[in-house]
Amino acid sequence: MMTILEAVNPATGEHLDDIQETAFEEVELYYHQARTAFEKWSTLAISERLNYLTKLRSVMVENMDQLAQVIVQDTGKVPTEALVADIMPTLDAINTIVKHAEKILSPKRVKTPLLLIGKKSYVEYMPRGVVLVISPWNYPLQLAVVPVISALAGGNTVILKPSEVTPLVGKYIEEMFQKTGFPKDVIQVAHGGKEVGAALTKGNPDYIFFTGSVRTGRIIQEVAAKKLIPTTLELGGKDPFIVFQDANLKRAAKGAVWGAFTNSGQVCMSAERIYVEESIYDDFLNIVKEETEKLIQGTNEDSDIGSMTFPKQKEIVKHHVKDALEKGAVLVSGSPPENWDDSMFIQPIILANLKQDMEVVWDETFGPVMPIIPFKTEEEVIKWANESNYGLNASVWTSDLKKARRVAGKLVSGAVTINEVLVSVANHYLPFGGTKDSGIGRYHSDEGLKIFCHEKAIILDKGKLNKEIQWYPYKGKYAAFLKLFQSYFHERKKWIQFLRSYLKLLKK
Ligand code: ADP
Repeated sequence: MMTILEAVNPATGEHLDDIQETAFEEVELYYHQARTAFEKWSTLAISERLNYLTKLRSVMVENMDQLAQVIVQDTGKVPTEALVADIMPTLDAINTIVKHAEKILSPKRVKTPLLLIGKKSYVEYMPRGVVLVISPWNYPLQLAVVPVISALAGGNTVILKPSEVTPLVGKYIEEMFQKTGFPKDVIQVAHGGKEVGAALTKGNPDYIFFTGSVRTGRIIQEVAAKKLIPTTLELGGKDPFIVFQDANLKRAAKGAVWGAFTNSGQVCMSAERIYVEESIYDDFLNIVKEETEKLIQGTNEDSDIGSMTFPKQKEIVKHHVKDALEKGAVLVSGSPPENWDDSMFIQPIILANLKQDMEVVWDETFGPVMPIIPFKTEEEVIKWANESNYGLNASVWTSDLKKARRVAGKLVSGAVTINEVLVSVANHYLPFGGTKDSGIGRYHSDEGLKIFCHEKAIILDKGKLNKEIQWYPYKGKYAAFLKLFQSYFHERKKWIQFLRSYLKLLKK
């Protein structure tokens, strides 16, 4: 039976298109085709593979406006954000990979210790095989395409399953791959929901790269563990945003508003807990309220905040806000949930007077909600920031850069931005990934290419000698080895003793 994925514009409710799901029976075929394509793709020179990424970049650049419109329609995000936060980072990732992949993945000569005298050592990078990429709906282009191209560069073939919540973008990505002219089956896109995702996960990929919820991440990791399939998991966050009294207050407040409300807060690294030093708390609150109330909600080019993308997420946000208000939180800006309409727009919310037992304080909200909490000391705020199951990103705001580095050093987080928010993800030279429930592994940077390859250790001997000292027979060698190692590993190497024992062993 063919199932259809309905693409609906969440901001307007308009039906956009029907996209055919990939049938379960096709999963086996996808893997077969991917393995067949791997035979040739993996043997191409890396420069040839990178040529395809350059072509993909051209396709994206030529169709940039249309691509932005597809993202806007499918997610409800505003056009500027589609361009700045989804398309641009993808293009920048292509640039960085095209520029550096050849060097990063070329064989590396490493040192060979004296005990292995006469040999040479190398590390080589070998593609893993077929990589499964499962991606989410909040940045449906970037979070799908960046792992795909990173895997392709290393010589893997890829099966991508984009989110069923944004199927139009998934379809458009597939069309862009087709326009690029990748060799047949090097990159295949499977459309569908969690059942298709689950079938693909069980289909024996050589690597799984997953971005999504903690709940699904755990399921995937369990399946992968049974088959010993390596994974990267990019999961959620509850990022702390720490403002000290000596910060540039205006900048920190504007940064908080952007960090909390960009993409309607549907960002794994959005500012979800704003900690403000007590002495500036009231001032900060006032500026943040003023800045928030200036924001324009809508869908056009001048809008600041779009709609929520996924109806279920709106319900989670509603639940968090209700829970907080029922437990005594104060609504500083925005409207109470009982006044929300049926649309997918949520007016940005600022909450004060928060307590630790409120869900909005400890659980990921993934919506346009900014809880603001006062703190007294550096130690206290570091403790609170780290008292979370998550650890994806964090930010520290202060004019004392020494203090900033000190605090950043103590935060259990995959990234920290200082007097900035979110942008660490936009520098492809930096690693990206989380600690604790925020995930396993890193991508972007050199690491983002290496994870898709086996690191192969090569040791080379010209093969001229007939034997090695550690080979059989052992007769009469124990004492000489004892002297060899004692002289070699001694605090001050005893070279004469070393040489004598070595020559003795050679003669045995
Ligand atoms: P989100 O709420 O951010 O979409 P999910 O974890 O539900 O997070 O979904 C992220 C991606 O994982 C989507 O592409 C979805 O279809 C896929 N997915 C969901 N459940 C499973 C599963 N059990 N196995 C494999 N993929 C899944």
